[in-house]
Amino acid sequence: MKCPFCASEETQVLESRAVEDGNAIRRRRECTKCNKRFTTYEKTKNNFLWVIKKDGRREPFDKEKLKRGILKAIEKRPVSLDLVDDITDQVEREMLRKEKEEIPSKVIGSAVLKRLKKVDKVAWLRFVSVYLEFDDLKDFEKTIEKNY
Ligand SMILES: [Zn+2]
Repeated sequence: MKCPFCASEETQVLESRAVEDGNAIRRRRECTKCNKRFTTYEKTKNNFLWVIKKDGRREPFDKEKLKRGILKAIEKRPVSLDLVDDITDQVEREMLRKEKEEIPSKVIGSAVLKRLKKVDKVAWLRFVSVYLEFDDLKDFEKTIEKNY
């Protein structure tokens, strides 16, 4: 890490703090040569995940979007919002643990379904149709057979 003032590479970290939901680390540094202070943001490894959609398009993994999908599925169901947050967090962590840059949307969908199934059968069924974007009923039935 170079000092932006004198370009020296000898800097000292004064303070480190996780930001952006743990996806980046903010560091307060001091240059040991000119003693000026500056702040850096370092993205942590594997924070960025691409989702491959059924039609082959890629889009960045969007945790909020995933959460919205689950919320839609549990509408008027006796499922707490805390549980939705838990499921979203767990699924995100599971995907990051795979240490892949790209993950098919179906893999993410299945990870949610696995958890929703234990929580609420109606929400589970709704999520199948909301998230997995089925072409036809046959596809839908196949997934139900596989997951149920
Ligand atoms: Zn310096």
